[in-house]
Amino acid sequence: MRILRPLSRLRWRAVYGVWLVLLVTMALAALYLVLRSEAVQRARFEQSRVHQAEAATVSDRLIQRWMAGPAALQQEVHYLATLLDARVTALTVQGQVLADSQPGAPAQSELGLSTEVRAALTGSTATATRTGPDGREHFFSVAVPINRAGTPLGALHFAFPLQELETGLRQTRSLVFLVCLGVALLSIWLVLGYAEMEARALRRMTRVIERITEGDLDARILSLAPGELGVLARALNRMADKLQIQMKKRARAKSRLDTVLHVMTDGVLILSKTGEVKLINPAAARLLHTTEARALDRSFVQAVRDHRVAEVWTRCQESGEEETAAIEISPTQFVRVVVTPYFKRVGRGYLVMIQDLTQLRRLQTIRQDFISNISHELRTPLASLRALAETLRDSALDDPPAAHRFLDRMEVEVDALTQMVEELLELSRIESGQVPLRLNPILPSAAILPAVERLRPQVERGQQTLTVDVPADLPLVLIDAERIQQVVTNLLHNAIKFTPPGGAIRLTATSQGNLVQVVVEDTGIGIAPAELPRIFERFYKADRSRAVGGTGLGLAISKHVIQAHGGTIWAESVEGEGSRFYFTLPVAEPLPGPDAAATAPATSAPRA
Ligand code: ADP
Repeated sequence: MRILRPLSRLRWRAVYGVWLVLLVTMALAALYLVLRSEAVQRARFEQSRVHQAEAATVSDRLIQRWMAGPAALQQEVHYLATLLDARVTALTVQGQVLADSQPGAPAQSELGLSTEVRAALTGSTATATRTGPDGREHFFSVAVPINRAGTPLGALHFAFPLQELETGLRQTRSLVFLVCLGVALLSIWLVLGYAEMEARALRRMTRVIERITEGDLDARILSLAPGELGVLARALNRMADKLQIQMKKRARAKSRLDTVLHVMTDGVLILSKTGEVKLINPAAARLLHTTEARALDRSFVQAVRDHRVAEVWTRCQESGEEETAAIEISPTQFVRVVVTPYFKRVGRGYLVMIQDLTQLRRLQTIRQDFISNISHELRTPLASLRALAETLRDSALDDPPAAHRFLDRMEVEVDALTQMVEELLELSRIESGQVPLRLNPILPSAAILPAVERLRPQVERGQQTLTVDVPADLPLVLIDAERIQQVVTNLLHNAIKFTPPGGAIRLTATSQGNLVQVVVEDTGIGIAPAELPRIFERFYKADRSRAVGGTGLGLAISKHVIQAHGGTIWAESVEGEGSRFYFTLPVAEPLPGPDAAATAPATSAPRA
């Protein structure tokens, strides 16, 4: 039974023990009281009957009737029987029946033999409790001696029925029993009811604890029981509050950490002491060309699939110290791997940091290239200047026409040097944002066509054809016209330079949403795929174009100019077939609605 469950508890066993002792004590006390009161009532009954019997025998009337003969005595016996509500029998000294209020009734013959009658015949009153001949009826039997002036005449026997007394006693006994039973049932009801109340409160608490264990931290005990259970419930609620606060704090800290790990560009992995990947952030997954799902719970070696990276961890495992290595994990990716062992209370593990140094390396390469390029670019004109000056000093001074020629050539070299230095200076000024743009809304053709016209003679000299398609109804663009002319000039100049005679050059401008896109295409020598990403670098010149001349700065300047306008510039090329240079310019009053990105070219990513 559910409500008996608390019986198993020590405290409840004690309560039930005390309750049982109380019940038994009550029952015993009730039994004692019943027996005691029965004894008293019986004693009182017997005493009163003895007095009545003795009072009846001392009357002179009885003696006279006794002496008057059996008929008179019979009358007297009847009278006494009616008066005292008893059976009355008169006996001779020898024990023979003289008169009987119920003549002929059974057991009359045995009267003379009974102890109380024998005692009365010897002169003393005696009593006894007797059972009737049917075995059920009980009597209180009193025998009193009858004397006349000291001479015994016989004895008078009274049989008082006990039925009434016994019925009364039985009723009392039943009443006491019923009261006891009632008290016992009431106490059972009270004790079990209270037990059930506590059990219910305990069950409620258990349910709440189970919900909290399953992660429902909002669960609370709402109805507080009185007493100790209430105190326990309040303590539980307080504990749940604290737990909830702690969990929230933890969740916040974890989410902060997650955010950091998620957005940081460096790769982070946490390994167990056996080298199992326990955490990997998106940057690490990207750098190692894997996914979180594929790497988690795998060994580090399996996750990275690169023995050089795995070796750094093995070294760290052996030395117990931080280990670092710079590794080129793919031709286009260069990383630094740092493995640090850590010790926590719970165990040890390793923290792996993967830093992407590709960009840094590229910048280093660009810088080195820049230095070697600039030295290279300077060396040629300087060497020829030196040779010219030496020749001039040694011999040509005496030959004025030759000296003039040399001086002219020296001037050309100095001009080339000056142009290069100026372009460099300009590039560095644009790069550092020192050249303010004079932005005006103008038609694209106003910026493009003057540059085309300036270069037309060169096209003709190169025997190429030039087609220009710049519609007059293009939207106004917000640009610094002079700078954009510089870009167009540079792109056209390159197209002319790198297109053999008979080739075609085409310039088109189209409206693309909030942008105007300009394309300069040629059918020239084209650019090798390996070189294409680098042509916008400073001083970069494809090997084959070195002979054609140029500083290698034109595209770098163009890139910065276009970027300063908020546009993009990129190139596409098929080696031997031709090249296409694209750039975009922002429209002066952008159209409302979808942003420019939606209409930007999707064919190739801008390379700049
Ligand atoms: P340069 O002054 O040498 O032309 P640029 O920066 O303008 O310098 O160009 C860089 C390099 O890009 C060139 O040396 C050449 O190799 C390549 N290049 C640029 N335009 C073209 C083109 N239209 N066709 C082929 N190669 C080109």
